[in-house]
Amino acid sequence: MDRIRRIGVLTSGGDAPGMNATIRAVQLTAAACNIEVIGFKHGYNGLLESEYKTLLGHHVQNIIQRGGTILKSARCPALQTPDGPAQAAATLHQLDIDALIVIGGDGSFRGALEIAKHYNGQIIGVPGTIDNDVDGTDNTIGYATAIDTALDAIDKIRDTADAFERIFLVELMGRHSGYIALSAGIAAGAEQIICPEFGRLQPGDLRSVITPIQHAQLLLGKSSYIIVVAENSYPGGTTALADELSKAIGIECRACILGHIQRGGSPVGADRILGTKLGVFAVEQLLQGAHLQMAGEVNGEAVLYPLSKTGDRTKAIDPFLVRWQQQVGSS
Ligand code: ADP
Repeated sequence: MDRIRRIGVLTSGGDAPGMNATIRAVQLTAAACNIEVIGFKHGYNGLLESEYKTLLGHHVQNIIQRGGTILKSARCPALQTPDGPAQAAATLHQLDIDALIVIGGDGSFRGALEIAKHYNGQIIGVPGTIDNDVDGTDNTIGYATAIDTALDAIDKIRDTADAFERIFLVELMGRHSGYIALSAGIAAGAEQIICPEFGRLQPGDLRSVITPIQHAQLLLGKSSYIIVVAENSYPGGTTALADELSKAIGIECRACILGHIQRGGSPVGADRILGTKLGVFAVEQLLQGAHLQMAGEVNGEAVLYPLSKTGDRTKAIDPFLVRWQQQVGSS
């Protein structure tokens, strides 16, 4: 195999705090090996529209503490058109890029697999998404920060809920899974957590939500009550769920949708360290010949995992916490 002289890097899909730590680690590691790094802007759009710049040391200075991504991120529907992947590969060939690092979620990795069908170089993925819904790594970059951000907000909602003895439903992100909802809900001491892993709620049958509320009221009287809800847990959304609950129990239930604030903010230490570790590992593994792999971390150790399996959804949310939450949250 020829020596790697030039690596491309991009951030794709939902941005996540800690992506900048990975970009920095890639640039610093590559530079130490005399490898040039080309940063593509706006996810795969940068590949299709040839929007890129050579990343130098000063570009990655003072970025480790910043949320978002200096390369910008985006979705790129054009990559999903029949000619998209070949066009992206053509840009990589034109620029003599020997290997590509894709920082994103499993959707971005599907895009990478499509490009690989037309590309002669190596491709490696680094899991960057707040959702933590990527197989082959215990945690994704951004997840730890998102939990802390959600927690900070729920703690504040608790204060006002307590003062007014109100019921609040707080909706957290997690398109396909309840990782953020379970972790932030446990850490916030939420009375209930609703997420896909606990079964789907059906409109018109809210007994599993109402019964614990009524128990709590019998035991504690009127008091604050927080229900953490993973997005997409209820048809019509969390506001519709709050409205139906209000009608069913005769007490006003307020919905609070945290939304995109969960994606922002300075990355916590764990995400800076994970982002750095996986960025370094990705470059080192490319030099060892890795291709169509994801750089992940399992039990504290950096590991490779086939890109094609990252979206299989075999990673279960912590069964220990699930069991406990189901015991205390349903009584
Ligand atoms: P994430 O990486 O956060 O899971 P998305 O699922 O939105 O984000 O995917 C990000 C981008 O990856 C899409 O906008 C698209 O450009 C690319 N992508 C996803 N799936 C495919 C696919 N099957 N074929 C080609 N490109 C894809």
